[in-house]
Amino acid sequence: MRVKLTRREFLQRGSLAAVGAGLASCAGPQRLAEIVPLEPTARATPPPAPTSTPTPTPAPEPTLTPEGLPTFAIEPTVIPEGLHEARYYDRLFGDQVQCQLCFRKCIVPEGWRGFCRNKVNIGGRYYTLVYGRPSALHIDPIEKEPSFHMLPGGNILCTGTAGCNNRCKFCQNWHLSQRDFEEMNHMLITPEETVAEAMGFDAVSFTYNEPTVFYEHMFDVTKLAKEAGLGTIFHTNGGMNEEPMAALLEHMDAVTVDLKAFTQEFYEELSLSELEPTLRTLQQVHQSGVHLEIVNLVIPTLNDDMDDIRRMCRWICDTLSEEVPLHFTRFFPAYKLTTLPPTPIETLESAAEVADEEGLYYVYIGNCPGHERNSTFCPACGEKIIQRTHFAVISLEVEKGRCRFCGHRIPGIWWDV
Ligand code: SF4
Ligand code: SF4
Repeated sequence: MRVKLTRREFLQRGSLAAVGAGLASCAGPQRLAEIVPLEPTARATPPPAPTSTPTPTPAPEPTLTPEGLPTFAIEPTVIPEGLHEARYYDRLFGDQVQCQLCFRKCIVPEGWRGFCRNKVNIGGRYYTLVYGRPSALHIDPIEKEPSFHMLPGGNILCTGTAGCNNRCKFCQNWHLSQRDFEEMNHMLITPEETVAEAMGFDAVSFTYNEPTVFYEHMFDVTKLAKEAGLGTIFHTNGGMNEEPMAALLEHMDAVTVDLKAFTQEFYEELSLSELEPTLRTLQQVHQSGVHLEIVNLVIPTLNDDMDDIRRMCRWICDTLSEEVPLHFTRFFPAYKLTTLPPTPIETLESAAEVADEEGLYYVYIGNCPGHERNSTFCPACGEKIIQRTHFAVISLEVEKGRCRFCGHRIPGIWWDV
């Protein structure tokens, strides 16, 4: 039987810890401990029918999408209880809808769900199932995001739901990302309550699964968090479309993007997705001025070719900037890739050296606690300006956004500027 908990019950039962502890960010590079899986409680079932009949309206005039599909204007209607209307979708002929939130642009017949499993078409209108219903809510160090150039040592309230728009065979959070909403425990918490819980911490973060698939909740929380003076950050696979991303970035301080590999073949075969939308997103975030960091999870034999890594680093330097922090993180066997070994440390070090050679200034090695490349070095004078051990900040020598030793400007969001 499906378990629905109030926020208070959720906290009291320790479900927060159960679903949050050990969760890594989207690509799962920072693996601290095994996720404690919750027992599946029910298979996906059809959503409840609308409780009210929409007011009849005259037949609307269709317009055309960029793909040439006819769409129809969305008239006001009654929202089915417990659901929240989705943003960024078109109504198509015959009560179909087309979601415009991510690169998949799912065309969804009446009664069906989108690829990410989180959205449902009821009567030609599209609804999100996970608004105000996270399955993970946890306090993490911001370094776990990873975000190394934003409020070092800060604590952030992280939230995620079930579902994802990718199918990564290496997903370290598959217990969340590859589940239907009904299979997971979740708490009920409004955006206002989420922000209230976050007060006293340094930022709110959207992570664990892909936040695009709970966009509506993320957007409302982010807007309120900014108004309350909190920092905002999210970790994404980069598949969100340009228009919703632009609206979101207006309220975001920082974004961490997974660049899973630099070949379309890898994206297709290992993630069932595409490289190009991620490259487009990286450029959009960089051009917006929002702080950007990139994560590359290095998986033995699958994306550890140094020529490909060199091409990736060169693209980052040429298209974005040599100042964008790049994290090479260590893979551990997970989900459908349990027969591969963990990434050898030497492979990560070779990748970091290639990034150095291509001119990147801030190159990190993650998921290797105590490695020298957990720390930040000034690219001008070479001094260690942020000493870290894994997620812990030991010393901070950045003052007003500059190296305390030579005055070089360090990109990021700092405590005293
Ligand atoms: S967000 Fe979900 S429903 Fe929308 S296009 Fe992407 S996968 Fe499809
Ligand atoms: S399946 Fe989703 S949550 Fe998991 S690594 Fe891929 S994009 Fe991230």
